[in-house]
Amino acid sequence: MTTVAAYAAPAAKAPLERTTIERRPVGEFDVLIDIKFAGICHSDIHQAREGWGEAIFPMVPGHEIAGIVSEVGPGVTGFAVGDRVGVGCLVDSCRACENCKAGLEQYCTGGAVGTYNALDKNGEPTYGGYAEKIVVDENFVVRIPEGLKLDEAAPLLCAGITTYSPLKHWNAGPGKKVAVVGMGGLGHMGVKIAHALGAEVTVLSQSLRKKEDGLKLGADHYYATSDPKTFEELRGTFDLILSTVSAPLNLDTFLSLLKTDGAFVNVGAPEEPVRLNLFSVIGGRKTLAGSGIGGIRETQEMLDFCAEHGFGAEIELIGASEINEAYERVLASDVRYRFVIDAATI
Ligand code: NAP
Ligand code: ZN
Ligand code: ZN
Repeated sequence: MTTVAAYAAPAAKAPLERTTIERRPVGEFDVLIDIKFAGICHSDIHQAREGWGEAIFPMVPGHEIAGIVSEVGPGVTGFAVGDRVGVGCLVDSCRACENCKAGLEQYCTGGAVGTYNALDKNGEPTYGGYAEKIVVDENFVVRIPEGLKLDEAAPLLCAGITTYSPLKHWNAGPGKKVAVVGMGGLGHMGVKIAHALGAEVTVLSQSLRKKEDGLKLGADHYYATSDPKTFEELRGTFDLILSTVSAPLNLDTFLSLLKTDGAFVNVGAPEEPVRLNLFSVIGGRKTLAGSGIGGIRETQEMLDFCAEHGFGAEIELIGASEINEAYERVLASDVRYRFVIDAATI
């Protein structure tokens, strides 16, 4: 075992504080990663505050990990010491079910293992990326292309793949009108990726505060959802709406913005259930769908896509002692557009 420094929430809703955790010895197929940067996802906050239900404490959040390989097990074939690598939301899965075989490990029916707030195959709690080092099976490690800066790449491991996967699945591209709801960590990546895929992109944000940024990141249009005129003007406009909102939304009003046969795809994971009038999908044969992160192969594809198009995330780099303050700013929708922890400060 190796003792490493980390930031952990000792209990639900308690502020995160510096501590140490044990990492397992590097096994045959394991990679030891010196973590350089870890993104702060809103999911970290939902879980550290038990907003999604009972959680495991102490909790070391962090599933947007970028670092450098410092040791490999004897059976590792894909990585060598010195490689630039990333780890996202998963560190293991059953590897045998239909979904795992199809590269959809995130929908593993035999039990995928989350990067933190989960139990591994030996029943040990997993600890995430707000730490100096992590040991991960090579099958759950991806390569960060040279063209991407490590700090700007970290958020791609969750925010990038969570928006890339549904945008690809629902065919965002030339001739398609795509709306992204919420301009936070996921939303700003949704805008960049949908634009790079060739879609006509509209941001639907609570206000126009971030309009200039949205247009710079690739949006063609930007509207405030606090203005009721937005919903009149945009009725029946979109082929695809991707919602990244962390709080419950009035789905009926957003569904009215879809064309016939349009799809509203939700990736936001609010803590409370939402209500829906089913007539909102009956009229216009609309689809209401959800999507969860993405598989390992697709995560590599997304990283290569971002490198090819020359973009990572827009980040605010912080020291580990600023994590609790950063959480408050995320909760206040005051993030531009992803906080990334410099792991050297842990
Ligand atoms: P974030 O950075 O906080 O962004 C969420 C955005 O939603 C905010 O910036 C804000 O955008 C908007 N918003 C917040 N509260 C709102 C409200 N009450 N009404 C309307 N809009 C509101 O969070 P994130 O890290 O992008 O994560 C977003 C959500 O996705 C979280 O619930 C997270 O847990 C979830 N998530 C899901 C997956 C998945 O696999 N499905 C993966 C990662 C994260 P504006 O200021 O532009 O309005
Ligand atoms: Zn996440
Ligand atoms: Zn499986």
